[in-house]
Amino acid sequence: MIKDKAAINSFKSYVNNAQRVVIVPHNNPDGDALGAALGLCSVLKNMHKEAVVVSPNAFPDFLMWMHGADQVVIFERNRKKAKQLIAEADLALLVDFNALSRMKNMQHIFDGDDTPRVMIDHHPYPEAGTAQIQISVPEASSTCELLYNVLDVAGFAGHITKEAAECIYSGIMTDTGSLNYNSNRPETYLTVAELLRMGIDKDRIHHMIFHNNSFDRMRLLGHALGEKMVLIPELKAAYIYLSNDELLRFNFKPGDTEGFVNQALWIEGVDVSALFTEKDDMVKISFRSRGEFPVNRFSEKYFNGGGHLNAAGGESRLPLQETLKRFHSKLKDFRSDL
Ligand code: 5GP
Ligand code: MN
Repeated sequence: MIKDKAAINSFKSYVNNAQRVVIVPHNNPDGDALGAALGLCSVLKNMHKEAVVVSPNAFPDFLMWMHGADQVVIFERNRKKAKQLIAEADLALLVDFNALSRMKNMQHIFDGDDTPRVMIDHHPYPEAGTAQIQISVPEASSTCELLYNVLDVAGFAGHITKEAAECIYSGIMTDTGSLNYNSNRPETYLTVAELLRMGIDKDRIHHMIFHNNSFDRMRLLGHALGEKMVLIPELKAAYIYLSNDELLRFNFKPGDTEGFVNQALWIEGVDVSALFTEKDDMVKISFRSRGEFPVNRFSEKYFNGGGHLNAAGGESRLPLQETLKRFHSKLKDFRSDL
């Protein structure tokens, strides 16, 4: 999986020479971003480093069980402490993103900062200048799968405890929908096998992440599928849209709409789906596709976003209804140009 051995050697010497390390996942961290950050944090602590995860914003409650999750510093809630930790660090490790803009409100702290950075990521098209060392492997199912291999090649795998292995497995599991997509490479299963050998309880992790829904979230899902899903058969698309008011009505918490966009893709004949959620003055968008439809390109072109071929995100500053109209018309244009 890892072709650039020189990058791993550089990562290794940066880590060996560093004492204070900050680890940063992307804004709105998902299971892969947080799992990689916490897995890495645990490994570094085992190596007697002072390591801390600084996240741009909050992560979903269903990831709170992860080892070290209670010690994550959330930039949006504690700017002073986050800035201080970053200023004092002699190494920054960026996981599961490949452009500084993915740190959203925290980006300005790193712009022009000369602390060495290493990026470990699996998204295509890494942006130059994100880090001095860019370990980018788009064929990896997840950053967590890549991370395991990076640690292994660097000779650090002996420092992976069972707790760290649980975090790392969580990223592989969530980014592949429990090995349902992006998971045709035999190497992924060899990595999972190693993590199982380290003592993780895969079934328990699945339960903790997927079977711990709040009552409100289940009701919001029912509402979204029953009342707020629109099918556009001629464009082989389906989307769900949720307003600020609706989210408030169902006591929305970060992570509550996780997975909704996948469900819109389960409709026969649909190969593109989207989820539009109003967030104050903007609309956050998630895209998913099956087959060759490049949602990353679509999102990059029209919604200031990006991601993977089959899973991407973006945003819109237009009001919700106008955003939906724009999606419909741009999808039509994009389809006819494919
Ligand atoms: P999600 O829909 O789960 O938020 O994101 C799907 C994928 O797209 C993830 O891999 C995520 O990192 C990426 N992604 C989400 N939002 C953005 C965005 O605004 N810009 C870019 N470049 N990638 C995004
Ligand atoms: Mn990922």
